[in-house]
Amino acid sequence: MKELDKKNIWHPLTQHKTHPEVLPIASAKEALLYDTNGNSYIDGIASWYTCMYGHCNPYIINKVYAQMQVLDQIVFSGFTHSPAVELSEKLLAILPTNQKKVFFSDNGSTATEVGIKMALQYHFNQKNNRHTILAFEEAFHGDTFGAMSASGLSIYNGPFEKHFIDIVRIPVPNSKNGAEILKKVTELHKNKPLAGFIYEPLVQGAAGMKMYNAEGLNLILQFCKQKDIICIADEVMTGFGKTGTLFASEQIAIPPDVICLSKALTAGMLPMAITTCSQQLFDAFYSNDMSKGLFHAHTYTANPLACKAAIAGIELLTSEEFIENRKRIHKAHINFRDRLKNKSTISNIRVMGVIFALELTKKMDRYGSSRDKLFLHFKNKGVFLRPLGNTIYILPPYVITNAQLEQIYEAIWEIL
Ligand SMILES: *Cc1c(COP(=O)(O)O)cnc(C)c1O
Repeated sequence: MKELDKKNIWHPLTQHKTHPEVLPIASAKEALLYDTNGNSYIDGIASWYTCMYGHCNPYIINKVYAQMQVLDQIVFSGFTHSPAVELSEKLLAILPTNQKKVFFSDNGSTATEVGIKMALQYHFNQKNNRHTILAFEEAFHGDTFGAMSASGLSIYNGPFEKHFIDIVRIPVPNSKNGAEILKKVTELHKNKPLAGFIYEPLVQGAAGMKMYNAEGLNLILQFCKQKDIICIADEVMTGFGKTGTLFASEQIAIPPDVICLSKALTAGMLPMAITTCSQQLFDAFYSNDMSKGLFHAHTYTANPLACKAAIAGIELLTSEEFIENRKRIHKAHINFRDRLKNKSTISNIRVMGVIFALELTKKMDRYGSSRDKLFLHFKNKGVFLRPLGNTIYILPPYVITNAQLEQIYEAIWEIL
């Protein structure tokens, strides 16, 4: 398999000339991945935070399988179907109450792309002269052009920067810089009126699980609300229970106008994304004038199978069993953090919900060779973690057992 892979396939985020061998995975169950030699690995990052209810969860499989035999795919422009409608009901019931409309797309990048287009067209439809989007430094919002423009991680963006949409940036808030950031936003808005503000609430995932200050964020959101700047919460990573609440936006006083969802939305079973918005935003598109509509669509919009996976996922998310699981993982992370307290080779140990992260004091490139050594160490210990430079983080599926968590902690302990 490896030879044919090498011959035929171009992998994502990969420099093929220097990259070590890929690992063929044969199957996965609950928190475990199995390679083609029968070795198992604990999926310490839930396959990029998607399979939160465990791999190949029979509850999800059965719902999708039943749907498969009834309706597989249908154009979503001019048609509708019960999986999409049922999902919209279930989702709006758990999102911040100002969210009123559900727009479907295919992945996290398209979810944020749609959010940005909503903000720009909201102002365009009202003849407001606003074309600039505000974003955080080191943000990550995806790999399509709008999403990529808003992302501040230059390793991904270099060759394309000339083609970006208009973005201005501010640092993430900490306990000290709130007033300073507010001053900067005020100036930026005076300079070039802002159409929208896109942010990953409380945790910047791709930046290395960087956690930041909720009050500081709230100050910025307050300013945006006053100035009719559309607030777009990118909850593609933080959504569905990872930060201790169902959505990170619940921990911030001011709700966003737009929320972007993907990754765990479909429990890791099928790709799909959703962008939700407030009534006020939707109303700016509601008109007898055709051109005021949002002319954005993907062929697989609201695929019935993916909708069913998402419905099953939300049912598990809000069940007693999974609420308990999240509390249990959080407690284990806190205990591990306390055990690490006096280690001098690490810094900035942090826990939020089921997310655990720390930095090694040794500096490393994001995808450099020391980082690859770390990755191999974990692999040899039967653990799949994906360090980002010198940041090690755990974001396990909610079904992970205490023994499996302990095995991950041990593997981290050994490198300190
Ligand atoms: C992963 C991610 C995206 C992009 O999602 P894709 O499905 O990979 O396109 C966008 N925003 C955040 C915060 C993410 O974590």
